[in-house]
Amino acid sequence: MTASDGAGNPLLSSDALPRFSAIRAEHVEPAVRETLAAQRAALERAERAETPTLEWLASLELIHEAVHRVWSPVSHLNSVVSTPELRSAFNACLPLVTEFGTELAQNERLYRLFGALEESLPESLTAERALVRHALRDFKLGGVALPPTERTRFRELMQTLAARQAAFEQNLMDATDAFRHHEQDRGALAGLPEVLLERARAAARAENLPGWLLTLDPPTYQAVITHAEAPQLREKYYEAWVTRASDRGPSAGRWDNGPLIEEILKLRHEAAALLGYESYAALSLATKMARSPAEVIDFLRDLARRSKPVAEREIGELTRYAGRKLEPWDVAFYAERMKQERFAIAEEELRPYFPLERVLEGLFGLAGRLFGLAIERADAPDVWHPSVRYYRLRNASGGDVGGFFADLFARPNKRGGAWMDGCVNRANLPGLRQLPVAHLVCNFNPPVGETPSLLTHGDVVTLFHEFGHALHHLLTEVDYPSVAGINGVAWDAVELPSQFLENFSWLPEVLTGMAHHYKTSEPLPAAKIETLNRSRTFLAGLGMVRQLEFALFDFRLHHEYSPATGGRTLALLDEVRREVAVVHPPEYNRFPNTFGHIFGGGYAAGYYSYKWAEVLAADAFAAFTEAGAFDRATAERFRGAVLAVGGSREPLDAFVAFRGRAPRLEPLLKQAGIEESQELAVQ
Ligand code: ZN
Repeated sequence: MTASDGAGNPLLSSDALPRFSAIRAEHVEPAVRETLAAQRAALERAERAETPTLEWLASLELIHEAVHRVWSPVSHLNSVVSTPELRSAFNACLPLVTEFGTELAQNERLYRLFGALEESLPESLTAERALVRHALRDFKLGGVALPPTERTRFRELMQTLAARQAAFEQNLMDATDAFRHHEQDRGALAGLPEVLLERARAAARAENLPGWLLTLDPPTYQAVITHAEAPQLREKYYEAWVTRASDRGPSAGRWDNGPLIEEILKLRHEAAALLGYESYAALSLATKMARSPAEVIDFLRDLARRSKPVAEREIGELTRYAGRKLEPWDVAFYAERMKQERFAIAEEELRPYFPLERVLEGLFGLAGRLFGLAIERADAPDVWHPSVRYYRLRNASGGDVGGFFADLFARPNKRGGAWMDGCVNRANLPGLRQLPVAHLVCNFNPPVGETPSLLTHGDVVTLFHEFGHALHHLLTEVDYPSVAGINGVAWDAVELPSQFLENFSWLPEVLTGMAHHYKTSEPLPAAKIETLNRSRTFLAGLGMVRQLEFALFDFRLHHEYSPATGGRTLALLDEVRREVAVVHPPEYNRFPNTFGHIFGGGYAAGYYSYKWAEVLAADAFAAFTEAGAFDRATAERFRGAVLAVGGSREPLDAFVAFRGRAPRLEPLLKQAGIEESQELAVQ
C-alpha cells in the first residue's frame, strides 16, 4: 500500500487502472468528497490565473480527469454489479458530482479566462481551439450568462433532473428484475431455444423449484417474443415488457415512471427556457450536428414518407403469411418463421456457428487488417467479476495503443443492453500521460456447462457496433481528454464509427473467417452467408418505421412540451404512431415508461441521432464498397479523418475530409432495400 492510497480507499489509489474488486459501497462517499474538495482547491488556483496559457488549459483538464478517475468506476460498477448498498452510495454522491460540474460550468471567472484564451490561440492549434470553443459553448449552456437568481434556479434544475433520471432507470431495472414466469409444463415453452431452457432450468433449481423459471432480461424477452409457439406466453411477456415501470401490467403502480416522465419534461423545459431556447429540443441541438428542430423533423418525416409504403407492404405480406390478424406480440414470431421459410435461415440455427471466442478472433483480425492493430488478451489487472477479460491493443510497429475490459455476459444485477464507456481517457499533457482504456459491455448468453457462449448474428452485429465505439475511444490521437475519442463528439455523429463497423459483420469475407461450428469447426456454408445477407433487408421497412416512431416521438415530445398542456405523452405517441407506424399496440402499452434512452440516459431529443448517424455510416461504408472492403488506404483515411480526431473537429468537416463531399441519404436507403431513385443530400 502506498501513501496515496489514503486510508486504504481503493478509489483514491494511484494505480493506473481502478482496483474494481476492492471497491466497496463505503468507499464511495469519502473518496468522492475528498476528491471534490481537492479539485475545488485546484479550481480556485486556476481561477486566479492572470493570463490563461496552454499550461492553464492543461491544468483544467487534470481537474476533469481527477473527478472522472473516482466517479467513472463507481458509475460503472453500479451498472454492472449493482447492489442495494452500491446503489444508495451512488445515489448519495450523484448530486455532489453533478453539483461540482454545474459549479464549474457556471464559473464566471473561468468563462472570462476561456474567452481571453480563445483570442490568443493560433489557428494551427486545432484541438486546443476546439476544446476552448466547446468550453465556451458549455459555459453558456451551464447558465453562466444568467443573472444570479436564475443561475441558482438552473443549478437546482440540473441536480433534480440528474436524480429523477437515475430514479427512472432504477424503477425500470427493479420492474424488470421483479418479473418471473414459473412453468412446469414443458409443452407451454415449445419453440424456445435449448440454451435458454437450460438457463431457466438452472434458475428454477437454484430456487428449489420444479420446472423452469424465466426472467424478463432482454435476451429472454427477445427469445420468448420471437420463438415461443404459445401465443399466451408471448402475450404475457409482451404485456410485462411494455408495461414495466408503469400503472399497468403485472406490477402496476409499483415502480411507476409516469409521474417522473412529466416531471423530467417540465424540468427540462424550464432549463431550456432559462437559457433562451424555445424548447428542450432546440437546446439539445446546440451540441449536435443538426442545425434546427425543423431540419431534424423534416429529416425523420422524409425517411418515414419513403419507408412507410414499404413497411405497409411488408405487414400485409406478413399478415397473409400468418393467415390471421397480427397482434403486436405476433409480429416478431411470424417474422422469424417467414424469414426461416423464405431464407431457410434461423437466428438460433446460426448460433452454433458463432462461438464467442472465434467471433472475437474474427473481429480482432478485422481490426488488424484495416488498421494494422494487434489485439491480445492480457492478464486482467483487476476485475469486478470473474468472467471479465482484459485486452491490449498494439499498433503495427508494436507500440501500445491502449486496452479494454470486456464484460460480455448477462447476469443478475447488471444493466441490460450493450454499451461502450471510457474507463481511462487518452491524455498527453504536462503532468498526465495515459493511454486510453475502454469498457466493452454486452449481455450475451453465458457459457452453460460444456457449451461455450454462442451468439446469434444479431449479437455479432452488437459486438461489432460496440467495438466500433471502442476503436473511436482507443484510436484517438488527441492529447486533451475532453476532446479525445468520443468525448466532445456531437451526439448525432457519435454513432458513426459504431454503425460503420457493423457493416463488416455482414461481409462474406469476414463471416467466412469467423463463423465456424463450435463442435465440428465446419465453416458457415457460403449459401447460408448469401442468404443471411439477403435476409438483411427482410422487413427493413418495418424496422425503419419503428425507429422513426421512437425518434419522432422523442423529438416532438421535447419540442412541443408546454407548461400549460404538459407532455401529453401518450396522446403524442398516438399521433406519431398514426403518422409513422404500421403496427398499433394495445391501450395498455406504456412504452414511454420503459424508454430509458431519453428519460434515463442522454438521448433526450437526440434519439434521431441513430438514424442521422446511420446515414453517415452507410455513406462512409460505401467508400469501402467502392474501393474494396479492406482497402488499407481508405481505412487509414477513415482512421485519420474520423477516428483519430475525436471531438477536435466538427463532424461535418471530418466527414467531408474522409469522403470528399457532404453525406447523402442514398446509401442508407439502398442498404435497407428501400428503393429510392431520387438522390437527396442531408446537408
Ligand atoms: Zn452505439
